[in-house]
Amino acid sequence: MSKIKIAELFYSVQGEGRYMGVPSVFLRTFGCNFRCAGFGMPRGEQSREVEDIAEVVHMFNNYKELPLVSTGCDSYASWDPRFKNLSPMLTSEAIVDRIMEILPQDHWKEEHLVITGGEPLLGWQRAYPELLNHPKMSGLKEITFETNGTQSLTDEFRSYLHNWRKSNPEREITFSVSAKLPCSGEAWDDAIKPQTVCEYEWFGTAYLKFVIATEQDFADAECAIALYRKAGFKGHVYLMPVGGVESVYALNNKNVALLAMKHGLRYSDRLQVPLFKNEWGT
Ligand code: SF4
Repeated sequence: MSKIKIAELFYSVQGEGRYMGVPSVFLRTFGCNFRCAGFGMPRGEQSREVEDIAEVVHMFNNYKELPLVSTGCDSYASWDPRFKNLSPMLTSEAIVDRIMEILPQDHWKEEHLVITGGEPLLGWQRAYPELLNHPKMSGLKEITFETNGTQSLTDEFRSYLHNWRKSNPEREITFSVSAKLPCSGEAWDDAIKPQTVCEYEWFGTAYLKFVIATEQDFADAECAIALYRKAGFKGHVYLMPVGGVESVYALNNKNVALLAMKHGLRYSDRLQVPLFKNEWGT
């Protein structure tokens, strides 16, 4: 029986991208190939907020107790090994039981499943088929993988996704690709992988979502968009304001919306920030 290390599993409203406003189960897997310590920092500098939290990690028993950060990756505990004890390794059976507990009707209705991270397309691809094949998951019609767009799909998982969708015409697969620009602190060549993202389009709908704080970020996004288009990417592009906490989000959400309008791109909010203050489990 396969297991997945689960950082968080909760029910909320999708706050970003194509499914904004849709009631959703979020399955946050543990592990990421990036750190994104540059978010919210002056160019070239790295956030150290998590270092202070990690020093007192013994004080926290679960995700809900963890402090929020205003710089760096806002889901730091879902990949930082210093917080790994907060993320249990669960069997598919245990994950499905928990999903049934948090779904309001004990079964799938209009809800959508978001498999997020961390980076959910790292090694866990091998475990998703068993989870999705569980009889209690048969009513699920829509899945989004929230990915940083750097991980190719394995041959086995490609074929599984193809069959999952084919078995029911109502089923939809979405890849919400939050490609990391230099403001994240990650290197361009590691983060911008146009060919990989084009491949996602073979198995479902893919769109790009860029986190924007400054004019420079938008200039970087334009360069990246040109590369994705050149590689054949056909999906929509969203601009989304930086801001894991309300004070930062409120500084630039309107500007990012105006920028998106000016350039004929889509705006994605972060509804979890104004609605729930981006607390863990929302
Ligand atoms: S890719 Fe996402 S989860 Fe990974 S470090 Fe960056 S923001 Fe955090």
